[in-house]
Amino acid sequence: MTRRTQGARAVVTGAGSGIGRAFALELARRGGRVVCADLDLATAKETAARIEAMGGEALAVACDVSVEAQVWDLSEAAERWLGGPAGLIVNNAGIGAGGQVIGETPLPDWRRTLGVNLWGVVHGCHVFTPWLRAAGRGGIINVASAAAFAAAPRMAAYNASKAAVLAISETLAAELSGTGVAVTVLCPTFVKTNIIGNELIDAAASRAADKLMRLTGTTPERIARITLDAHDRGRLYVVPRLDAQLLWRAKRLLPAVHTRAAGLLGRFAPFPQGQ
Ligand code: NAD
Repeated sequence: MTRRTQGARAVVTGAGSGIGRAFALELARRGGRVVCADLDLATAKETAARIEAMGGEALAVACDVSVEAQVWDLSEAAERWLGGPAGLIVNNAGIGAGGQVIGETPLPDWRRTLGVNLWGVVHGCHVFTPWLRAAGRGGIINVASAAAFAAAPRMAAYNASKAAVLAISETLAAELSGTGVAVTVLCPTFVKTNIIGNELIDAAASRAADKLMRLTGTTPERIARITLDAHDRGRLYVVPRLDAQLLWRAKRLLPAVHTRAAGLLGRFAPFPQGQ
């Protein structure tokens, strides 16, 4: 097993909260130097301060991953501070979105969701992969979701963004196979974070998701640990927990049955029709 995550020179996007913060702290615990990037610089600084309080080294950087130029700036800031290119990239930044059916979801919401969740990962892979490929070492972890394959109703933009992240990760893994660079894609169900609190999720969907998250959610710390361990083992897919694994198997073995069942469940979902 290659202990890629030990002492890694890492960049984590969306490191100011939730899963990204947990990745940053766990990488620091493993002796890494961590660049904590977030749209919200204050929260990235808080993560960096926590790492420093543990005796680790961290740099906070403001970066909107949906803007290509800002991801280039991030890679330059990281390279300056690390004294060389980053060896482990965690493309984690993402936003939640949902509650309305296709045809009623406003197109600006589609664009914003795809801008962060899909283009953010495209930018991260585009900017950071060439050095990794040339060096023949290191890794990329992309954060998708069980939504990548579950196709839950009223979440089309989010589902599409995460399905694309899964496909990009699979393509990247095939392209980098034999180079020494590992690719891992994380596909969790609910994780207890701040993802639900934004205006792209309508009130009813937000209440329902919050309830499910509190009832069934895993901690971000556990998700970060198992994903980094899986990355060390060279695993492409990380599908934590039984609920996600059952969805994953059902989708692969019985895709039509899975989609019909998702539709049926959607009818009984606690979101009022038309919202
Ligand atoms: P979170 O809201 O707690 O954290 C997301 C972080 O990303 C925040 O700090 C936010 O400021 C940052 N961010 C948002 N837009 C950004 C942008 N344009 N550029 C840079 N940073 C940006 O949410 P989380 O649950 O920790 O989400 C992390 C990832 O995990 C996301 O990609 C999300 O889709 C995925 N995910 C979450 C869950 C869950 O249940 N929480 C489940 C599956 C997948």
